[in-house]
Amino acid sequence: MTTLPSKGSAGPGTLPAEIIEYGKKLVKSGLVTGTGGNISVRVPGREAFLITPSGIPYHEIEEQDLVLLDLEGNQLAGSRRPSIEQHLHCLIYRARPDVQAVIHTHAVYTSAIAATRQDLPPILDTLVAAFGGGLKTASYASIGTEELAQNAVKALGKRNGVLLANHGAVCTGEDLAQAFSNAQLLEASAQTYIFAHLIGKPVILPPEVVEQEAQDLAQRYGQKK
Ligand SMILES: [Zn+2]
Repeated sequence: MTTLPSKGSAGPGTLPAEIIEYGKKLVKSGLVTGTGGNISVRVPGREAFLITPSGIPYHEIEEQDLVLLDLEGNQLAGSRRPSIEQHLHCLIYRARPDVQAVIHTHAVYTSAIAATRQDLPPILDTLVAAFGGGLKTASYASIGTEELAQNAVKALGKRNGVLLANHGAVCTGEDLAQAFSNAQLLEASAQTYIFAHLIGKPVILPPEVVEQEAQDLAQRYGQKK
């Protein structure tokens, strides 16, 4: 069995260590409960990604429990069964070369919207700044199926987030930190959207404003690279 890859030197900061760290953050933040959700990271320079194992609580996952899969779904390293949503992660990496990390969550407010099979419209500037607009809810398919993965990729498009009908959401990013912050922002936006409905009718930003803000805020927000 091949050794699991690391970003550079061994120790903190390696890909396996990062996945384990973000798994714990995922539970702590309430974006998942129990063994729900899953995390993966693309291995730089290889047509492969590291993913969390199926059914092991996040605080118990050790580096050797992680599974290395290629983009055809073949298991290259690790003896555990990979997450049931391996197709979801695999198809996203195939469709989106820019995506380096994928986090699947079952966050409560996001899942509430997904349960209605509505999209999350662009109701907040912060949502537009992070995602470039509103997010779609993918058509329903059963957990762990290729059909679910295909529906998710289609609804994800070029954005970094998509809701999964009657299930949860997936957020992507250029690294785990960005995918995680996108998942947090999505959940906060979903909560705001639901609360806005309680006191009135949320105003959806018109397409021309969304387009202009998406470009403008992407330039002005955060640190330049
Ligand atoms: Zn799930």
